[in-house]
Amino acid sequence: MSFDYDLFVIGGGSGGVRAARVAAGEAGARVALAEEDRYGGTCVIRGCVPKKLMVFASEYSGMVEDARAYGWDVAPGAFDWGAFRGKLHGELDRLEGVYRGILKTNGVETFDQRARLSDPHTVELADGTTRTARHILIATGGRPGLPGLPGDEFAMTSNDIFHMDSLPKSVLIVGGGYIACEFAGILNGLGVETTQYYRGAQILRGFDEEARGLICEEMCNNGIDVHLGTTVIDMVRDGDAVRVKATNGTERSFDKVLLATGRVPNSDDLGLEALGVELGRKGQIVVDEYSQTAVPSIYAIGDVTDRMNLTPVAIREGMAFVRTVFEGKPTPVDHDLIPTAIFTQPEFGTVGLSEEEAREIEPVEIYSTSFRPMQTSFADRPNRVLMKLVVSKASRKVLGCHIVAPGAGEMIQLAGIAVKMGATKEDFDRTVAVHPTMSEEIVTMRNPVRTA
Ligand code: NDP
Repeated sequence: MSFDYDLFVIGGGSGGVRAARVAAGEAGARVALAEEDRYGGTCVIRGCVPKKLMVFASEYSGMVEDARAYGWDVAPGAFDWGAFRGKLHGELDRLEGVYRGILKTNGVETFDQRARLSDPHTVELADGTTRTARHILIATGGRPGLPGLPGDEFAMTSNDIFHMDSLPKSVLIVGGGYIACEFAGILNGLGVETTQYYRGAQILRGFDEEARGLICEEMCNNGIDVHLGTTVIDMVRDGDAVRVKATNGTERSFDKVLLATGRVPNSDDLGLEALGVELGRKGQIVVDEYSQTAVPSIYAIGDVTDRMNLTPVAIREGMAFVRTVFEGKPTPVDHDLIPTAIFTQPEFGTVGLSEEEAREIEPVEIYSTSFRPMQTSFADRPNRVLMKLVVSKASRKVLGCHIVAPGAGEMIQLAGIAVKMGATKEDFDRTVAVHPTMSEEIVTMRNPVRTA
């Protein structure tokens, strides 16, 4: 049977674009890709990239104060959201152009419209035409999920934040995950009076407890009003603001409310169930270690599979798919020991097991130090950082490394190599410190603070 293409990719985000361009450019496949929105997907258009640029913008307020402490005659001025937003969107337009260009130069045919499956080898485009392909790859990502609270419709999600006309004077952020905590730091740094409600006992559930505790403490030190064990009962319009009744007994108005209560896979209306593609409880596409669904010609990668919802993971999954399907090298995706950063202020870089996870598995030694770093302590800031290793008593391997510090994202990328290679505590110890740095502490912790 002959097909129009060897591969049809649905979704032009990081994972889909990578798979399409490698399949076409390196494996010589005939490839098409459909995208109904903007090329670049969540990461480039409404996630990692604009978020990180906002983190940078928000950090300048503190830097001006620190510069004064270092003798500079500078005064903090006002933040011009309009000027920043214009430049931000200019940069996103440029990046979208880069993504489109990559597809074009690799010979991928693109369709700027929605696509759905009508049989295991046929894609139906929104204009009513159909295309056939030997393989179909679904890389449609995810979107913010609404918690279903009364008055949800008065709140915004992370998708809306980059488009606000003006910065609110006050904001309530609901949730305690990556997105809630990152935007709490950003908006607080930009001068917005920031309140955060999280329903659980401590933010960033699932991560190392000591790290979570310090991040929360520092967020509060930085001026964020964090309420743990608190969630919204209902929200109503109050002029231009939103009046929020909460489980902590308060009723307050906020200029804006940001719901950051999790994301859901974009698997609706793709025609999947009718073809026998299995969906999980959250609507995620169920795949095997080669990203193959229950229908052999259909594969899925990235957030729509809800494995580890991180851009570099989606890219890896896309590459592994091409190796498996177009290069004859079956390549499972390795989801073990993935380093990651959360761009809270201070940042959190983490790889491997938390202390709590590790001690459930085997006896461990904990090496941990928390201190005021030189740069900010000179500027009379109270902020502390944390360097922590979780070490197996039996094998001596470093099972987990957790860093809460400015620049922790950069540090954990490198520590992640050592942990992935199976480095032992003694390997860390025989590495000479780089002085004076914060990260030198990671190789100078001599005695465990506890065993568990
Ligand atoms: P998360 O799943 O990380 O967090 C959702 C938060 O919302 C949790 O604190 C959860 O509480 C809370 N929540 C869920 N439902 C409700 C509800 N009904 N009422 C009140 N609170 C609720 O989702 P995010 O949206 O923050 O992030 C999604 C994913 O995106 C992340 O897991 C990550 O993979 C990725 N991401 C990665 C980033 C990075 O790499 N730096 C940055 C941003 C996102 P509870 O803990 O009690 O369940």
